[in-house]
Amino acid sequence: MTADRARRRKVMFANWKLNGCAESIETWIKTMAPLAEEGVLDIVLMPPALWMERARTGLERYPSRLALGAQNVAAWEQGAYTGEISARMMADAGACYALVGHSERRLLFGETDEMVSRKMACCWTAGLSPVLCIGETGFERETGETERVLKRQLGAVEGWVRPPPGKALWIAYEPVWSIGTGQAAGPDLVAAVLAGIHSHWAGLNATIHSQPRLLYGGSVSLANAASLIALEAVDGLLVGGASVNPESCADLCRAMIRALD
Ligand code: PEP
Repeated sequence: MTADRARRRKVMFANWKLNGCAESIETWIKTMAPLAEEGVLDIVLMPPALWMERARTGLERYPSRLALGAQNVAAWEQGAYTGEISARMMADAGACYALVGHSERRLLFGETDEMVSRKMACCWTAGLSPVLCIGETGFERETGETERVLKRQLGAVEGWVRPPPGKALWIAYEPVWSIGTGQAAGPDLVAAVLAGIHSHWAGLNATIHSQPRLLYGGSVSLANAASLIALEAVDGLLVGGASVNPESCADLCRAMIRALD
């Protein structure tokens, strides 16, 4: 392996969703921090919002390249939106990243492309890097709609991509049929879709300064993590269910680090 390749760090985003417990945050950070520090992998913990501050305190005890991200932010900066948490509040609590447009938000909470765009704008203003999630359903794939759906989801946010210096847009390809099903997309499919996203982005107008960083997410496990993280087109993996338990998440990260070394 060349020195250049060795220096290309990739990222594992751990989306806990509505799982875990407050007490496990410190154990998780203590277990994972050495892997982020020594390996070729950066790690981003996305805990339930209420535990963000607790996670930040954990990071102060175990300093490393481990960072925090929010699973969701409000589509408004402030106002009469009961129960919402703004991107600014998440940044104040220690987040550096935020998921926007996760398929569970789109499908279960009626999040529209317009709301996703507004959330992205709020992230930039608050200094968070948004992680835009896009992906087709199983029906859309079977009916040959994948490309159209992905272009629609990308097209909806095009006018809102304004990364300040030092920030990047992250795009996670997360086919809906693979999330939480145990049915991950194969490396060839992931490579083809990410190449499509890359060339779509390259063809956009000059207001979009930088290429996004590309992730894959959907049923990542010990069985497939190494082959997915090793793909040239992949800058990282977004992991849901397999990221909650600290020991098995550490095993997953070790497999990724071995594949990158
Ligand atoms: C996700 O929800 O972003 C995800 C990838 O979930 P899972 O790994 O559980 O499929």
